[in-house]
Amino acid sequence: MKILKIDHLGIAVKSIDAGKNFWTDALGLSYEGSETVVEQKVTTAFFPVGESEVELLESTAPDGPIARYLDKKGEGIQHVAFRVENIEAALSELKEKGIRLIDEQPRIGAGGAKIAFLHPKSTNGVLVELCQRD
Ligand code: ZN
Repeated sequence: MKILKIDHLGIAVKSIDAGKNFWTDALGLSYEGSETVVEQKVTTAFFPVGESEVELLESTAPDGPIARYLDKKGEGIQHVAFRVENIEAALSELKEKGIRLIDEQPRIGAGGAKIAFLHPKSTNGVLVELCQRD
């Protein structure tokens, strides 16, 4: 398995509109619009930071994963995403190593990336996303 870089940090926010001001006005990152991924009940906005990005995540439904995260923990870093060369190969290698996978098969996330999550029980409590962008 080859990890290429930290692709992005996923940050749960109550509202992208309200939350983006820190990232744009204070830090000077550029806001390039948002995208809703309907089946994941989330709207995402990416802010490039050098080779990586900050991803703000806003729930589109009260029963979505981001809404549940906000209920439990409030706003904050929800996941760390690593870019991999080949996500299918990475998932089967991790499965072989006994790592618990949330997604056995990649799904399509924001920007058309292939993504899959690993279970925090296997990752020191961090929700880890793998992503592959071609
Ligand atoms: Zn992400």
